[in-house]
Amino acid sequence: TWPLPEGRIEAFLQSCDRVLVLEEGEPLLEGSVRALAQKCGCKARIDGKDETLTVLGEYSTTLVLRRVADYLDCPCPVKASSPVVRELPVRPPNLCAGCSHRAVYYAVRHTFGDDAYYSSDIGCYTLGMLPPLRMADFLVCMGSSVSAGSGFARASGKPVVAFIGDSTFFHSGMTGLANAVFNKHDILVVILDNGTTAMTGHQPNPGMLQDILGEEAMHLDIESVVRGLGVTECVKVRSYNLKALHSALEDMRDKKGVRVIIAEEPCVLYARRRLKKAAAQVAYVAEQGADAQRCLEELACPAFYRNGEDVAVDENLCTGCMVCLQVAPKAFKARKRA
Ligand code: SF4
Ligand code: SF4
Repeated sequence: TWPLPEGRIEAFLQSCDRVLVLEEGEPLLEGSVRALAQKCGCKARIDGKDETLTVLGEYSTTLVLRRVADYLDCPCPVKASSPVVRELPVRPPNLCAGCSHRAVYYAVRHTFGDDAYYSSDIGCYTLGMLPPLRMADFLVCMGSSVSAGSGFARASGKPVVAFIGDSTFFHSGMTGLANAVFNKHDILVVILDNGTTAMTGHQPNPGMLQDILGEEAMHLDIESVVRGLGVTECVKVRSYNLKALHSALEDMRDKKGVRVIIAEEPCVLYARRRLKKAAAQVAYVAEQGADAQRCLEELACPAFYRNGEDVAVDENLCTGCMVCLQVAPKAFKARKRA
């Protein structure tokens, strides 16, 4: 819808007597369509925002049905009080199957347990707040994980692990890191670098190789920025490599001062849709028992499901990250995707 396809809208307007613009938020399209109609001398009547469809909130199906029925002067098929769907299954917010953040959170929980405070930030990784991962004890605002985490470490004397994504780090995390170095704080910062701005739809950020038009960009290297801000203890790991993650976490746990782990792995949705990379293998349960149950309960990948007493993997959801094979090597094996 933007830039406005003026030719198509004009042709459409010329074929109508009345036009109803349905858009959430401010009447941007409505105003532009009115201006275009006036410019091209179109006589169609244009309606949009009114007392039913306001600039506030989201437009539910019921709300739009009511407005369209009213507009067409016909009975509305949905009564004001009747719910469209009576019962929905409970579905808590969750990281995608195969999300690299889950692997990092699993490794952090196994290294620090309940002995640390976990400072979170704004991004997909906030979804790790619920059990069993429980990786967000507090979240103040965008870019605050390092600065708020530094304060918690100073006030409590307990270990603090702060999580921040690559785009949030560039947006407003670098200042907190500079201050943490300057003030000699004691904090472990885990930069979850999934190579994109996943939460809001894969928009470019300064760490990416391409800009929004797909052209080569002057991207910033996170490790160079971190070291440039004065951090000397900085290591890079692949998020899907649990052994390397554990070893980096244990090493950093025993150190003092500002330490940074950069955990790299592209967001699986971004890898599949934009980078055209999809794993050729999927996981399956080769041996039922305590290990498979433990993996289901502790890693809790959404591709797992219970089949009676057994644990099973939904092949349609499994992305082939192979993290469950590292958590429970006897229980899970890989096979070629059908
Ligand atoms: S969109 Fe990407 S980063 Fe976000 S939860 Fe899904 S896999 Fe993880
Ligand atoms: S390989 Fe295992 S952890 Fe990864 S998506 Fe598949 S079932 Fe989930």
